[in-house]
Amino acid sequence: MADTLEPRAGKTIHADGEWREAVSGATREILDPADAAPFAVVAEGDEKDTDLAVAAARNAFDHGDWPRTPVTQRAELLRRVADLLVRDREELGLLESRDAGKTVEEGRVDIDCVADAFRYFADLVAGEAPGRVVDAGSPDIHSVVVHEPVGVCALITPWNYPLLQASWKIAPALAAGNTFVVKPSEITPLTTVALIDLLVEAGLPAGVANIVTGPGHSVGARLAEHPDVDLVSFTGGLISGTKVAQAAAPSVKKVALELGGKNPNVVFADACATDEAFDTAVDQALNAAFIHSGQVCSAGGRLIIEESVRDRFVAELARRADRIRLGRGTADGVECGPLVSEQQRAKVEAYVESALKEGAVLRSGGKRPDPSPERPENGYFYEPTVLDHCHREMRVVREEVFGPVLTVETFRTEDEAVALANDTEYGLAGAVWTADAGRARRVAGRLRHGTVWINDFHPYLPQAEWGGFGKSGVGRELGPAGLAEYRETKHVYQNLAPKPVRWFAG
Ligand code: NAD
Repeated sequence: MADTLEPRAGKTIHADGEWREAVSGATREILDPADAAPFAVVAEGDEKDTDLAVAAARNAFDHGDWPRTPVTQRAELLRRVADLLVRDREELGLLESRDAGKTVEEGRVDIDCVADAFRYFADLVAGEAPGRVVDAGSPDIHSVVVHEPVGVCALITPWNYPLLQASWKIAPALAAGNTFVVKPSEITPLTTVALIDLLVEAGLPAGVANIVTGPGHSVGARLAEHPDVDLVSFTGGLISGTKVAQAAAPSVKKVALELGGKNPNVVFADACATDEAFDTAVDQALNAAFIHSGQVCSAGGRLIIEESVRDRFVAELARRADRIRLGRGTADGVECGPLVSEQQRAKVEAYVESALKEGAVLRSGGKRPDPSPERPENGYFYEPTVLDHCHREMRVVREEVFGPVLTVETFRTEDEAVALANDTEYGLAGAVWTADAGRARRVAGRLRHGTVWINDFHPYLPQAEWGGFGKSGVGRELGPAGLAEYRETKHVYQNLAPKPVRWFAG
């Protein structure tokens, strides 16, 4: 599919059923993070392109069939999209790998999850009752609460899980009967462009699905402020999310924000009581922190471990971190790809440098790896890094690093563990590892995070809500609440026997 993008060169804006270039004619080269070489060209849209796409979505919502299409037909179309994703799994997985730097296997798993999201929302709407009848206390009154689509949705997505994050918005938006304009990250737009082709192939009417490729400061900002947009759903960093909320406020549109995290992985000593349990806890801590080179909103970048097991645990963690095979995501046997960009790597390097100055002790990584045949010199690689003896005053412990960096803090009591885990302005996800079921439930109940794993890390389910407490965001994706984001609720009150009220005597 990477090749099929080439003939399109620059025509990656889709509005009202047409693929076209940017109005300005500007283009952007998409770089492979493994060697910094350009491998695709996309349109660099701006405010003008955004206005055209919003106008198409507005027209399709106000005058088109999609919002009024029976829900069973909408569900059928979503299931067709899932089938097409399965058909194109290999090409899309490869494209995601080259665009975002992840391994091809990670890319394939992402595409499976995208298909799951389309199926889940298809089943959810198809199985629903059309409304909720309310008892109005009189046989002459028929009162029903129904749900309707919000309207034109602006969907803004990040670079770490490009198509997956887009699907968590596009699938429910379509299931609910909305039209949309999606703006993928300017550095990883390719699979979202490809998805629009699949939506068209599945039979979605022109104007319902629109895409503008381009930067956040122009395309994203215009979408957030646009008076003809009814809802903006944003996934990305805290700073951009705050700007989106500010830009959206004057038009009082609905706003959903999925932002960053600083996610604790709390390990009690009893979770390491046997060799097997110890191996599992270490293995999962490694996975929590380093999958996709830590560029995961829910990455378990803060290991909070009971003091009595710290030395043994950290030694084993560092030994295994040193053995992670870094390289181009498409190379055989590679376990971790590069970071997505030079800018991202520089940010990670600055965090590690500041942590070491503030007294952290380096146990593994902390530098760029030596180049090798599977690790070109120009690629944005960085070694999995374990920083011991960290504390809550350090920037690396407080701020989202979004890279392969694990910090280690210790505790002695359960209260101390909970206090450390909750000592963040974010609240996206966290885990507790313990063999004591009572403690597991107690601690899970006290963690102020949107997802809590007990003796696990990272799994999510399309049928369970995803989102954050605190500055990790507003609203939820997935699950019934993830569909509700894309709906207005309407109460229809019908008087079957109207009579004068006579409130006013005259
Ligand atoms: P980012 O905030 O830089 O960009 C996200 C998107 O917003 C991009 O499409 C970008 O072009 C756009 N954008 C930037 N400035 C904008 C503006 N002023 N107005 C409108 N749009 C704007 O984030 P990123 O670096 O692409 O992604 C990494 C971040 O995403 C991390 O903080 C990560 O935690 C977060 N994330 C959160 C979740 C979640 O589910 N909570 C999932 C994935 C990623």
